[in-house]
Amino acid sequence: MIVVLAGGLGAARFLRGLVRVVPPEEVTVVGNTGDDITIYGVHVSPDLDIVTYMLSGELDEDRQFGLLGDTHHVMDELDAAGHDTWFALGDRDMGVCAARTAWLAAGIPLHECAARIANRFGVGVRLLPMTDDPVFTVVRVRDGDGERDLHFQEYWVRRRAADPVVSVRLEGAEEAVPAPGVLDAIASADAVLIAPSNPVVSVGTILAVPGIRAALGRTRAPVVGVSPIIGGAVVRGMADKLLPSAGAEVSAAGVAGLYLDFLDGFVIDEVDAALAPSIEALGIAPAVVPTLMRAPEDAAVLAKATLDLAERLSR
Ligand code: GDP
Ligand code: CA
Repeated sequence: MIVVLAGGLGAARFLRGLVRVVPPEEVTVVGNTGDDITIYGVHVSPDLDIVTYMLSGELDEDRQFGLLGDTHHVMDELDAAGHDTWFALGDRDMGVCAARTAWLAAGIPLHECAARIANRFGVGVRLLPMTDDPVFTVVRVRDGDGERDLHFQEYWVRRRAADPVVSVRLEGAEEAVPAPGVLDAIASADAVLIAPSNPVVSVGTILAVPGIRAALGRTRAPVVGVSPIIGGAVVRGMADKLLPSAGAEVSAAGVAGLYLDFLDGFVIDEVDAALAPSIEALGIAPAVVPTLMRAPEDAAVLAKATLDLAERLSR
């Protein structure tokens, strides 16, 4: 069984490739829920849903979120009623979130909601949230002479990552426990893969759930990551703005350094070939391949290279 720690789009692209080279039933995804937000009365789990929508072939890839061909009557009506609709949710997307919200209100845990939604979309992988507990990523930003805390979505979607970042933390992490199945999956995996996801607000938040980081250090499975940074730049998103707040350089080597305590191998891009010796010097085995996933075929080749490195590193 292959475990993949996953954020949103970078992870979804990688997973679409992975399921072309291993049967989906053999894949367990541990998804980030630090981006979750309750808005317009519904609980949105953006990273779990982007993975679900991508694997079902229904992701709106132009917008990079939501469902292909979705309509926006609910947003239009909220707008007309005077609500600030800064967080766009299509009508079907809203329906998915409303289903989740109603289940949660009835006492059904988030992992069961995620499984039901994945099942409804015909997704073959096992999709687990990192935790069932309410947690959310807080971005502390500089604001005039002082500092203020923003919910991750407010920082990223509403204010478009314009504020200078001081620090990032996962609110509620201390009391959170990994969702049922997460630690067992890591312990019994044949390989654990770290998707090319944001090291701070996707992978970093998963690692902030007590017990997960230690489980990665303990598992007998090789732990192999894929760099989300290519040539010192992000493919999309704001990891470049957040890595310095985590004390890391914006490079593949900087990302590898954040995972030092558990990472066995790291897949970096061909343009970063010169960084391979510095990754090796960290005690991490590098593999150098093209890592840009323009199409599902590229992602499949990347996933295969990642599995090959894991295979080489497994005893
Ligand atoms: P988000 O929650 O949608 O921001 O998604 P993730 O955290 O999963 O992914 C964001 C990260 O994925 C960014 O740092 C991107 O640089 C990275 N990413 C996106 N597409 C690719 C790609 O094709 N190749 C690689 N190597 N990284 C990618
Ligand atoms: Ca995300």
